[in-house]
Amino acid sequence: MKAALFYRAYEPLKIEDVAIPKIGEKDLLVSVKTCSLCHSDIQFIDHGLAPGKTPPLILGHEIAGDVTKIGSRVKNFKIGDRVIIPASKSCGKCLACKSWNETQCDQFQLLGNDIDGGLAEYIKIDCNSPIFLPYEYSYELGSLISNDFVGAYHVVFDRVNIHEGETVVIFGSGAYGLSILQMAKMKKVKVYMVDIFDWKLEIAKKYGADGVLNSNKVNVCEEALIDEVHGKADVIIDTIGVTRTLTQAMNALRKGGKLVLSGFSENSIPFLVKRLILNEISLIGTIGAPKRKIFNIMQYIQDDRIQWKEMITNRLPLEKVNEGINLLRMQQSIKMMIYPNGMEKTTK
Ligand SMILES: [Zn+2]
Ligand SMILES: [Zn+2]
Repeated sequence: MKAALFYRAYEPLKIEDVAIPKIGEKDLLVSVKTCSLCHSDIQFIDHGLAPGKTPPLILGHEIAGDVTKIGSRVKNFKIGDRVIIPASKSCGKCLACKSWNETQCDQFQLLGNDIDGGLAEYIKIDCNSPIFLPYEYSYELGSLISNDFVGAYHVVFDRVNIHEGETVVIFGSGAYGLSILQMAKMKKVKVYMVDIFDWKLEIAKKYGADGVLNSNKVNVCEEALIDEVHGKADVIIDTIGVTRTLTQAMNALRKGGKLVLSGFSENSIPFLVKRLILNEISLIGTIGAPKRKIFNIMQYIQDDRIQWKEMITNRLPLEKVNEGINLLRMQQSIKMMIYPNGMEKTTK
């Protein structure tokens, strides 16, 4: 099968022919229809973040496709089923899993990081991991649900205690930020978005942002933000994870506020511990999502409470994945859909 392999940082992915994975008795082989790119993929390529699995590694964790083969003991799926493969995977047996904290699982794994991901024609996956993709949903929507939507749900409803009437600021108007914006709005709060591109902030306005700020167009982001928000924020969610945004976030947060770190990176925190102490700031990390939350997302989609069409800005076949990565790197794309089995053959 064709796969895009990551060997080492600072090099493009290599498109190679590799063996189709052999499945065990409780595994599925899934033909990947769409696998969208994410800024955390770029962390490995551009910033030297070391993946959990020793390379070569197949990147990609936003996956939807069709079951094409099942192991001898698989009972819950059959060949031809359409599936979403969640971006993270938990064991289901440890104490964390049993107490509904699956993202804190002892054997927590991220696809396209700890195990091979979806930038390939096929992926092997444990049959306990995928979820049915409803027939009325496109594969692209499945890819969005697998990571951005469900991850955003986890941030807003599981990890951060956001109260009605509060002010929430989100750094980054990418797919993840736009997803968090829409979940946060369900909590009846005011949401402000910060980015460096007006076209992305326009989408944020369309998706319900109460205000937006282009931090490249102001002298001091913190001051402009406090102005825009009419005070300091109760909650700031950073989806970028760089020194600049973390510092700006810290400066625009009220005493007793919550700083949420969700931009996957290997940077250090750029402020003194005493600032957290003296201002009683809560620092909250968040990763992945329990897969059962996908059903909550589907309910929101059913009720027409989530928008996404404007987020999908680009589509490319697997052969052009490096072109896609470059567009994302240059911030010219929000969601880049990669079609590992070709774009013509994949109907919707
Ligand atoms: Zn991601
Ligand atoms: Zn577990």
